[in-house]
Amino acid sequence: MNLTDINISDSVIVSHRGSRNSVDISRPYGWFVEKERTCSGKIESTGVIFLTNRECPFKCLMCDLWKNTTQHTLPPGVIPAQIRLALEKMNGIRQLKLYNSGSFFDSRAIPPEDYPEIASMLQNLETVIVESHPAFIGERCLSFRDLLRPELEVAMGLETVNPMILKLLNKKMTVDDFRRATDFLNSNGIRVRAFILLRPPFMDEEEGIFWARKSIEFAFDCGVESCAVIPVRGGNGIMDDLARKNLFSPPSIKSLEKVLEYGIALKKGRVFADTWDLHLFSSCSLCLEARKERINSMNLRQEILPEVVCKCDT
Ligand code: SF4
Ligand SMILES: [Zn+2]
Repeated sequence: MNLTDINISDSVIVSHRGSRNSVDISRPYGWFVEKERTCSGKIESTGVIFLTNRECPFKCLMCDLWKNTTQHTLPPGVIPAQIRLALEKMNGIRQLKLYNSGSFFDSRAIPPEDYPEIASMLQNLETVIVESHPAFIGERCLSFRDLLRPELEVAMGLETVNPMILKLLNKKMTVDDFRRATDFLNSNGIRVRAFILLRPPFMDEEEGIFWARKSIEFAFDCGVESCAVIPVRGGNGIMDDLARKNLFSPPSIKSLEKVLEYGIALKKGRVFADTWDLHLFSSCSLCLEARKERINSMNLRQEILPEVVCKCDT
């Protein structure tokens, strides 16, 4: 199939969706504590809070985050209350990821009136990481930064630097937009983390590895401090439709290991592999646990560890 013949739009993506989950706006839809290597090289307890809030205005092809969102903006005070609830259950964290299934700096997702209260709850942390589409990077980032005592880091989806595929992802962003947003943040003392997709639709396994590596190189060249590589999964409706048409297959956990190795070897900054639901990317129960363990250890140590050897390699 010729990629230029593929019709991807907001309405096509939305038409394939199932129903959203029912969410409770008095609480985040998830939270947990994980270990992460910080940019100073220490391994610190890191809280992750998935805020319940209004759906992102973008409709990216691979995104399933809309499932746990609302269709209306929440009144001021609701988001700080969600954060307080989760923080009360997290002991000893030094970093916090405040992820809102969209853009923290989208005023229809997180009311800017809430910034002072949110910042006041985070004063004892070292780093606060929020996520945003480059389109929302601007003065609001600086207002939030100025209220925070911890360092602010912004995570943005670069996704892929393959221009044709980036367009088909319907993110409504170019690599130049990503670079400009990174420049703005860096020039204002805000660190940047890039989300990079491993094997988005319309790529075979080798192309998936190739473009993930290229994307890591580009991200570091832009001034990003860390990259998180995310193996692409189905489950949002349109991705399952593409899978049925053989236009999408999830990558293998072995490809994730290869891209992680490559990124760490560059020594340009921290490179992490996303570790959620890794069983989705393996068809071998003999080596899955060992590969998970290897990936986790490489994330924490930022060193390439000996490869897992298994019957499934041959
Ligand atoms: S910008 Fe992020 S949250 Fe919004 S649709 Fe795209 S991937 Fe999902
Ligand atoms: Zn195996």
